[in-house]
Amino acid sequence: MMNERSTPGLATLGIHGHGFKDAYGSPHVPVYDTTTFSFASTADLLDVIDGRKAGGLYTRYGLNPSILALENTLAGLEGAEQAWAFCSGMAAASALFLTHGREGIVCVGEAYGGTLELLSSQLPLLGIPTHLILDDELDRLDALLAGGAKLVFFETPTNPTLSLIDIRAIARRAHAHGALVAVDNTFASPVNQHPLALGADIVMHSATKYLGGHSDLTAGALMGAKALLQPVWSWRKNLGSMIAPATASLLARSLRTLVVRVRQHNASAQRIAEAMQRHPRVRRVFYPGLTDFPGHELARSQMAGFGGMLTIELAGDGADATRVADRLRLFALAPSLGGVESLVTQPCTTTHHDLSAAERARRGISDAMLRLSVGLEDVDDLIADLEQALA
Ligand SMILES: *Cc1c(COP(=O)(O)O)cnc(C)c1O
Repeated sequence: MMNERSTPGLATLGIHGHGFKDAYGSPHVPVYDTTTFSFASTADLLDVIDGRKAGGLYTRYGLNPSILALENTLAGLEGAEQAWAFCSGMAAASALFLTHGREGIVCVGEAYGGTLELLSSQLPLLGIPTHLILDDELDRLDALLAGGAKLVFFETPTNPTLSLIDIRAIARRAHAHGALVAVDNTFASPVNQHPLALGADIVMHSATKYLGGHSDLTAGALMGAKALLQPVWSWRKNLGSMIAPATASLLARSLRTLVVRVRQHNASAQRIAEAMQRHPRVRRVFYPGLTDFPGHELARSQMAGFGGMLTIELAGDGADATRVADRLRLFALAPSLGGVESLVTQPCTTTHHDLSAAERARRGISDAMLRLSVGLEDVDDLIADLEQALA
């Protein structure tokens, strides 16, 4: 009986939030590999086209049962009125920027490489003003907003230094200028952080990471109020960036275990962060769950858990970090994150390879850093792997 709680918890929403029902009683979201849907009459067809009735119409529009059911779950997990699913995280980001960023976008802090390229090289080709400021340049934010930028976008925690950005504070400043705030919540996942509850207007996800969780699908999502997501719909439709029904079903399946997966990612990352902090070959550990980490207090105030991502800086140089990365056996050398298997990357050879050494230094990224995506293997095996590689 669920009548004693007005709002179900996240684990319940992950499992039942799709609201999908069919004539056969399928307990999960099946694949409707269907491109178009037929109607008994023109009146019935117009009911769906005009939005009077929910129903399938054409899959690229998102009017497909697998996609609609997935979006119910995605909205529930972020506490949003509406969610749109996309074929990738970058498709979600592009549709967001083209819908709400045309008057100007301010990106705060470190961001995903594709996002940075889109903002710094591509959107300006369309005449869209974009401004990239690091988190120690936040004093420039008000002037940029006064100058007409209408969308503030950021990630928190950021990659690879796990820096924390204060969602409440940025939302207050942006809203004072009539600007919107969008947060890329990929690193935290909805289990650890709810940007909308902290004042953000839109949440973006690369569902390729924790939401999918098994390194077997590429997808993205936007969540927020209906009024803000409605205008995104046409951009998604005509950019053609719809999620495939098979991916929607697979992602809906993954969301059913999101809460238990992320809680274990959190617990294992905390154990590894503490073990690495004690290791003589490690100079510094970047993890929001460590009490002496600079962002710890802010993380406690805006996150429910500290996540599965952490970065270690070796007491050595870039060549030492490369040797350790190459000697790890359980941690696979790969530039993604959020899956059940543990991954390692050296930011200076992958995610931040295109930046000059000086620019990396300005961003606090050293060659001796290794970023770990802590998976769901037995944590003692992961610690043993790190110890043999560091030995
Ligand atoms: C991977 C990632 C993206 C891009 O997502 P894709 O699904 O690869 O398009 C955006 N933001 C963050 C934080 C990511 O990790």
